[in-house]
Amino acid sequence: MKQSWESTLFDIQELDLKIAALEANLATHPGRLDAIKKQFAELKQRKENAAQKVTEIQLAIRKTEGQIEDLKKRKKEFQDKTALIRSNEEYKAALTQMALCDKSVSDLEGALVEYMDKLEEALQQQKEVAKIIEDAKVVGGAELETIERERQENKKEIDALNAQRQALVGGVPTDIMGRYDRLRTAPSNNRLRPVFVPVVKDVCGRCKVKQTPQTIINVRKGLTTFCSSCGAIFYEG
Ligand SMILES: [Zn+2]
Repeated sequence: MKQSWESTLFDIQELDLKIAALEANLATHPGRLDAIKKQFAELKQRKENAAQKVTEIQLAIRKTEGQIEDLKKRKKEFQDKTALIRSNEEYKAALTQMALCDKSVSDLEGALVEYMDKLEEALQQQKEVAKIIEDAKVVGGAELETIERERQENKKEIDALNAQRQALVGGVPTDIMGRYDRLRTAPSNNRLRPVFVPVVKDVCGRCKVKQTPQTIINVRKGLTTFCSSCGAIFYEG
């Protein structure tokens, strides 16, 4: 024989399990928001690094171009001087200097070509990072919307379920209800796990501990019975 309050407590528990699932989902929100924040902080850093690289290469290019200009000027000065040189040795020395200028210019022009390649690469990377950020904004924005929608919907649903629950509580004896709520709200309890459970194959449906024959007989008789191990409230399974 079932106790008159059993089906009511069962209904209350169904509501509590639904509430617990919604609360568990709400509890994922801070972590999900942090993940989005972290991702955007990382992307911001990548964007800054990419921009810095471009700037550094551009500076190196300008510096090299300046050096080439200076060397060409210097060569021109030597060239102009040669017209006034009378001694053979001085003339030779000037030619050597001009040759050195040419060599340095040639080296720097080689370096300039490499810088140009690097700049192209860096600009390409900058573009790629910008694209990743655009994509992340779309995904992150959708996730933010989902979180916000869930936050509102879950809270509304929880309120509605709590109202239904409130209407049922009076149908269960105070001591049973008290035990049920104590077990359910205990800090160590996983609220997704029921506390009003059947005895299946002689074991508690909550903690899986084997019950005494007397307990099993009591459950079958429809007496109010609790698990000797975890305190769960039994119904006949
Ligand atoms: Zn138990």
